[in-house]
Amino acid sequence: MRLILRMNEFDLIKAYFSNVNSSNNNVIFGIGDDAACLRVPEGMDLLVSSDTLVGDVHFKASWDAFDIAQRAIRVNVSDMAAMAATPAWITLAITLPTLNESWLDSFSKGISCALSRYNLSLVGGDTTKGPLSITVTIHGLVPNGRSVRRSGASPGDRIYVSGDIGAAAQAVLFLDNNPCDIPPNDSEILFDKLLLPKPRIDLINALRESASSAIDISDGLAADLNHILKASGVGACIDLVNIPIHPLVHKYQQENAFDFALSGGDDYELCFTIPRQNEKRMLENMVKDKKTVYCIGYIEEQYGLRIRDGFGKVDEVTPRGYSHF
Ligand code: ADP
Ligand code: MG
Repeated sequence: MRLILRMNEFDLIKAYFSNVNSSNNNVIFGIGDDAACLRVPEGMDLLVSSDTLVGDVHFKASWDAFDIAQRAIRVNVSDMAAMAATPAWITLAITLPTLNESWLDSFSKGISCALSRYNLSLVGGDTTKGPLSITVTIHGLVPNGRSVRRSGASPGDRIYVSGDIGAAAQAVLFLDNNPCDIPPNDSEILFDKLLLPKPRIDLINALRESASSAIDISDGLAADLNHILKASGVGACIDLVNIPIHPLVHKYQQENAFDFALSGGDDYELCFTIPRQNEKRMLENMVKDKKTVYCIGYIEEQYGLRIRDGFGKVDEVTPRGYSHF
């Protein structure tokens, strides 16, 4: 019995995970040994990060396995983008309730698609039986000493957000209360934001050149910016009206849109700080690359997060983002 179970596990790995790679950057050997062997190029630092997606906590187990796989990789790529690291390798630890071949086929296609999109190699993992859960560990590379951390913000730095936020949280809300009168167009846009976040690896070079700190917005802008403030030992003031809010959040949240965008997570845009002397160059590069980033406020010496409304009234806020416990 044990032997048959082990065989199934190996067959499964061979069938669905051994041949999904499209690139082989610096992989000396990958899947098949007790460990993978990878080469960190001369002059580069290695960054490592893990994210777990638990069925019916981070995604509905009923979602398309292709999308679940994509999302599992994309949220990890986002952590590399936030550190200004180029994604290189992943490992995949998957716990499955059953051996469902059509689910695995679709999942494996999603993995393969995300690997080629982000030029990643799958170099190993673990396969076990139990409640559905997916852990991806990602490894990225950055020139020595050039990773961007949460702790580098200083008073006077400008705070930027890389794109519209709030749409993924709006999708989660619709998932929870299931309204039937949402135009299909809107729900497609919102669920695309939730299922297929677009990690901002296109900003890696700009961050390396210009940013003093960065984080990806996974738990909500206020909570994630607050991580930067705590790590850097500073405070901030942001202008509510400058926060780039997704138009559909305005549509469905109306007067709550700003609060909603501040506390809603899952967008995987970046929040970063730019010292004043770097701002002009960063913005010129953005214009050159036809990208838009949004200045939402500035770092201050005084601890805490303050928000100025459209009438100039400033309020101290206590960030509320997602927390598991
Ligand atoms: P071990 O018993 O040494 O832990 P396993 O039998 O679990 O090794 O795995 C055999 C090989 O397959 C290893 O190289 C491992 O990294 C790889 N592997 C296992 N599960 C996965 C997976 N889900 N995705 C990619 N590689 C996997
Ligand atoms: Mg082993």
